[in-house]
Amino acid sequence: MKIFCIGRNYAKHAEELGNEIPVEPVIFMKPKSALVQGHTPFYYPEFTNDLQYEAELVIRISKNGKYIQEKHAANYYNGISVGIDFTARDIQTQLKEKGLPWEKAKSFDNSAAVGKFIDLTPAINKKDINFSFVKNKEVVQSANSKEMIFSIDKIVSNISNYFSINIGDLIFTGTPAGTGECMVGDVFEAYLEKEEVLSIEIK
Ligand code: ZN
Repeated sequence: MKIFCIGRNYAKHAEELGNEIPVEPVIFMKPKSALVQGHTPFYYPEFTNDLQYEAELVIRISKNGKYIQEKHAANYYNGISVGIDFTARDIQTQLKEKGLPWEKAKSFDNSAAVGKFIDLTPAINKKDINFSFVKNKEVVQSANSKEMIFSIDKIVSNISNYFSINIGDLIFTGTPAGTGECMVGDVFEAYLEKEEVLSIEIK
């Protein structure tokens, strides 16, 4: 399975990192070894002093495909959750300054925490899904999928022009504003609408 991630998909987050609003989705990937699911703790990596959380809507691919048109994209995923794109921001900043790839900052072991998936039934309007992220009982990120620069369907279509997508692949759809630092002992919870889908402690 593959984990795709979208960068800069909310205007306010692009602004807070001083990035331009992209004209095409920014795509990067994490390996399978990045995945954390269930109640596994997250251990603060030794190579960074600025580990940050990015809470994001995550979709689960349910059908194999390539060159998918946007109007057909909804047939290729069937679940949605919230995940954390853990980022070593100090390393990422150094790599970006040198024009180097981001993998060391974004694709390390356990850097992709994913919550419980909710089945996407016709009753769920994926263009209008609220999600929120709570750090030590305080809401630090909250957004609605309609604030995305590139919609879920557009993202699936764009990715599939470059990579075949396969059953079980995951797509992190980008973080809204409000990313911030993680400390040992922090407890994070993520909500899709009112339902808790993820809880993780930093050790
Ligand atoms: Zn992200």
